[in-house]
Amino acid sequence: MTDFQKTLMECLESRQSFERMVVLNDEKTGLEASVVIHDTTLGPALGGTRWRPFATRAEALVDNQRLAEGMTYKLALALGEDTDMAKSGVGFGGGKAVIKGRPTLDKERRKEQLRAYATLVNSLEGRFVTAVDVGTSVEDMITMREVTKWVAALPRDMGGSGDASPWTARGVVWGLKAYLQAVFDSDSLQGKTVAIQGIAGKVGRNLARCLAREGALLVASDIDRAAAEEVARELGARLVPPDEIYDQKCDVFSPNALGGTLNDDTIPRLRCRITCGAANNQLWEPARHAAMLHDRGILHAPEFWVNAGGVINVAHEFYPEGYSEERAAADIKRIYDRGRTIIEFSRKENVPPYAVALRLAEDRIRRAKEKCPAGKRG
Ligand code: NAD
Repeated sequence: MTDFQKTLMECLESRQSFERMVVLNDEKTGLEASVVIHDTTLGPALGGTRWRPFATRAEALVDNQRLAEGMTYKLALALGEDTDMAKSGVGFGGGKAVIKGRPTLDKERRKEQLRAYATLVNSLEGRFVTAVDVGTSVEDMITMREVTKWVAALPRDMGGSGDASPWTARGVVWGLKAYLQAVFDSDSLQGKTVAIQGIAGKVGRNLARCLAREGALLVASDIDRAAAEEVARELGARLVPPDEIYDQKCDVFSPNALGGTLNDDTIPRLRCRITCGAANNQLWEPARHAAMLHDRGILHAPEFWVNAGGVINVAHEFYPEGYSEERAAADIKRIYDRGRTIIEFSRKENVPPYAVALRLAEDRIRRAKEKCPAGKRG
């Protein structure tokens, strides 16, 4: 059995649940893609398409499953019962897609692969709606739109909601303010030091701009040195080598690069009161590392709560009366209120915020299931 077959078997035999997984290895275009639909209790699965040079197909599949599950919790929390979106009766479940490939692929070949991938998305007949994620762009979504209507985050002049990254950053700022209020008795960023990992990224640079505007002092890192220097110059941020970002004395450590950066090696090195950033799957082993941060007295912002600004904005494309920036912004602002609830329960029960956020999301899905049991849905 090949490594890929072994991982596929393990995935299928594990207790990790998901509703559907489709894998496409397209000989004609060389595309290697998969889509995982994790849970559609609250509506069709919504999730980005990640394009990365995964080392193996097995690694891509495991990442796909984890990311899809994260989207279920993110959307359950982000579009909670108090949001305009939920009140309109539109909801979304969790899904995600990954494409295993080189980012340097030439333009025409990339387009061919995207069209092949869009055919796969189309075959799911609206059970999965996708948007931009790491390694894909609005331009890629436009290419896919030639083949399938189940793509979102298209430019405004094509009826979409545009680039999600500034909205993700805005949501992180709202979440951070809820945490600052709880820790420092004030939600002001004036004079607070924030260590930003991934400052040159789509979210990182937008976040850095928002924070700098509100008077925060920035220390930052990025493996793309040239791009990082440009942003640092613009905002007066102090750059440090990528591995030294964990050791910086700061009020907030903000991970905005890739996942797994909060782990056995890095958590003991942190010198902050709060961790709050947009990166997905920040905790290497979620339950254990959430507890480790909690025990160190560091208030950790679960990413599936705090980085939902972008997906809330994308979801608003499906609002019955169409997309409205004001309505989307109002739902994104609710990230702040949700943060207050998470902190309240976390303190009352002395459990990590991660566990509280997960429970809030699971409760919402359970309530929806009770209201409308399987078989009666749709
Ligand atoms: P991006 O690829 O534009 O940015 C990531 C940045 O991190 C890049 O500048 C990269 O050079 C840098 N980086 C990579 N490894 C690093 C390291 N070890 N140390 C320092 N910097 C490093 O991606 P993005 O869209 O900005 O997303 C960033 C994270 O936020 C991802 O985990 C993504 O899943 C998550 N996220 C993004 C959005 C969004 O709206 N774009 C929404 C939700 C979550």
